[in-house]
Amino acid sequence: MNIPDIIIAVDGYSSTGKSTFAKLIATEFAFLYLDSGAMYRGVTLAGLEAGVIADGKIDEAALLSVMQPLDLHFCQEDGATRLYLGARCIEKEIRGWEVSQYVSPVSAIAAVRSWVDDKLHAFAAGGRVIMDGRDIGTTVFPNAELKIFMTADEQVRARRRYDELAAKGEKTTLEEVLANLKDRDYRDSHRETSPLRQAADAYVLDNTHMTLHEEVVWMLGLLQGKFGLLESPGLKC
Ligand code: C5P
Repeated sequence: MNIPDIIIAVDGYSSTGKSTFAKLIATEFAFLYLDSGAMYRGVTLAGLEAGVIADGKIDEAALLSVMQPLDLHFCQEDGATRLYLGARCIEKEIRGWEVSQYVSPVSAIAAVRSWVDDKLHAFAAGGRVIMDGRDIGTTVFPNAELKIFMTADEQVRARRRYDELAAKGEKTTLEEVLANLKDRDYRDSHRETSPLRQAADAYVLDNTHMTLHEEVVWMLGLLQGKFGLLESPGLKC
């Protein structure tokens, strides 16, 4: 399979399955997968643990001091990309309910965004990367060769996310998950710095009624059209 060493940007609304999709494409086509949302979640977790995010409030100045020396980085293990804080794998903690409630206001802080962007550029320096997030195709890599914008009906998204959390034993309700999703979409699309929006040259993937396999087939069609690939990769999903 002969896909050039490009950058693929995958943006979209919360819980549209961006990371599941991007991970699969990374595995199929030997790309490095990077989850930019994990970085914002990592900063949020560090803020919560340091007590500078508490009781619905974020002490911005204190958060910036906590953030500056943080050694947040990704490790590739068993084919998966996991986020580490120093020597500690924080992949599980950053997906928890408390982090999800604070991550959007944290990511709206301009200094947090520029700190995360610097890290993302450094991580992606080797090229051949697929990165998912909210502003990858618009701000982080505006020249990415391929941009995907993912969307899906919000009830469907909430149900998928609720099932995911329930499977992990998180105690929440479908209504709470839907409210959190709407709140994050609103905040992410309305913030001043680098709001979530579809890049003009992005291809829209609405997966409301699609299986993961159908999404990969859609992507394959796109890659074939764009790069003239003829051979089938023999999908593993
Ligand atoms: O993708 P995920 O849901 O894990 O992202 C968590 C949050 O991080 C988003 O709701 C958004 O507030 C923020 N984010 C962002 N820009 C990105 C990626 C994520 O603002 N590129």
